[in-house]
Amino acid sequence: MNHQMLVNKFNKVYQEIIDRIEMIEFKNEYSKFSLFLEKETYEMFNNLKSYVYEQKKIIMDLEDGYRSPENSQKLYDEYKELYGVEYAQKYVALPYTSEHNIGLACDYVIKKDGIYIENSLDYELLDESIFINSIAHEFGFIVRYPKGKEEITGYNYEPWHLRYVGVELATYLFLNNLTLEERFDLEHLLLADPILNYEKYNSYIEIILNKSSNNKKIYQIKEEKELGKTNFDYSIRHFRVGIGQKHIIVNGNTHGCEIITASFVLELMNKIAEQDSMFEHILNEITIHFIPLLNPEGFIISTSAIDYVFKGKNDKEKLDIMIEYLENAKKDDVNINTEKNKNQKLHRKTFENCTPDCISDEHRNLRENIRKLIKDYNLPSSILGTWSANGMGVDLNKNHPFNFDFYKKDREENPYPQFDRNDDIDRSKPGPIGYIGDSLDSNDSIENKLFLQFIERLHSDTLGIFLYHSVGGMIFAEVNKELPRTEESIYNTNEAAKEYSHYTSYKIINEVPIMAFNGYLRSKYNAISVLLIELSRIRANPIGTFSNPYNYKYTIHTNCEAFAKTSEKMLRLFKENL
Ligand SMILES: [Zn+2]
Ligand SMILES: [Zn+2]
Repeated sequence: MNHQMLVNKFNKVYQEIIDRIEMIEFKNEYSKFSLFLEKETYEMFNNLKSYVYEQKKIIMDLEDGYRSPENSQKLYDEYKELYGVEYAQKYVALPYTSEHNIGLACDYVIKKDGIYIENSLDYELLDESIFINSIAHEFGFIVRYPKGKEEITGYNYEPWHLRYVGVELATYLFLNNLTLEERFDLEHLLLADPILNYEKYNSYIEIILNKSSNNKKIYQIKEEKELGKTNFDYSIRHFRVGIGQKHIIVNGNTHGCEIITASFVLELMNKIAEQDSMFEHILNEITIHFIPLLNPEGFIISTSAIDYVFKGKNDKEKLDIMIEYLENAKKDDVNINTEKNKNQKLHRKTFENCTPDCISDEHRNLRENIRKLIKDYNLPSSILGTWSANGMGVDLNKNHPFNFDFYKKDREENPYPQFDRNDDIDRSKPGPIGYIGDSLDSNDSIENKLFLQFIERLHSDTLGIFLYHSVGGMIFAEVNKELPRTEESIYNTNEAAKEYSHYTSYKIINEVPIMAFNGYLRSKYNAISVLLIELSRIRANPIGTFSNPYNYKYTIHTNCEAFAKTSEKMLRLFKENL
């Protein structure tokens, strides 16, 4: 159980994660009904309760602990009915966005002169509550929605709502006056401006390489020979760290517009360049390979559109654009299911003035090919911002033999998928998203060809491959059972996925048809644990994922930790199997 799990309006918890939490059922004096709390939270709440009674004769009890997602919905509906939507949104969390859904939240009540005082804002001035809230951290609890932090937590001040996070973190947050969202805010991040473009990407790489050059040997990051060049002559750069015999491969930006993945891989490299001790255990025995940009062309196309939109804007204006973009993308997700607004693509408004001209002269050849694709296939040029494919219009994640066999014909018959907001884009032809390509040998998808050659060189000594994608908070681990895999390899992959999920609370997906490149890799390399990780739980590539800076930082830090721990786990499993 990860007691530090962040659940808020941006970070929904999945039912699968709730199902794994051990809940304790109990009764108390205050409530007529059974109450539930997560096991350790229950024990620590009781310790807190006894302590405040011993010290000050304060009688406190629990009003509400674990609340099922169904009950959250009911409560929300009741408040909406009674006080209106705005009030309900401020005080009651929607299902799966409440800490009460994970059993780590405690709404307490105080008994005074023989009666329980209903918890309300008045608790702010109540001596008993003031005392409890000043020592709660010693028992691992924080006042989760403090006064003055409403913008950050998304909730109004609730002096009665405690959240269990463990003694160490609670004490740190209390002493530094931080909320759980701000937990990583004081720590150093490389990218002051995480929204990269090609130029920034290359200069950050230089910073990382320089920074690590005087490090202890295991922490020295070196540039290796490039994997090769793309169709428009961009290097697929490759970096390496560690001195071990076993290998782990990390890549970002298979999809061009998933720019948060490149930011993440650079932050991960930076953490190693700063000799973060979490990597100490693995770098002696493992060599880590980084390919931050598998698809530089798609990245250049998408980031050129962002640069165009952000030109001359200050940070606040940029943030407003990102938030609006996210909101519009959410509306589009709803609209595709309603006949009336079906053809509105609100999120494209942000990029509506973009044309291929926003791609600079430096990338002239790439730009002219994109111009041609847009013209030949009658694409809206606002699609440049969300360009997922490479410069030839091939979606690298879709480009693999299972798709050639099973999906090619299907795409020709149903080129307009009805389930996403790009449902006006023909996927049977080269374009921004979803086009399978011709084969794995074709130069049109040379990035995959080069990536496969690279894996082939190392594969017998490779333990794991981490393929980073952008949205959803999910880990794709084991595809269907028809794959030719040994028991041991299935076990190892699932254990790795569980470890990753422990630190991120991401949902593990292991029963899906093979539609993506990670499934192909698993089928080809039985002994390698291949994980595809959907990084952020904020949706809407390319800029929606950055629309909440706290969430961005949280995503980066928890995934760095998850990567380090999962790599360690892979190594341990390998040794156990020797
Ligand atoms: Zn509460
Ligand atoms: Zn993706």
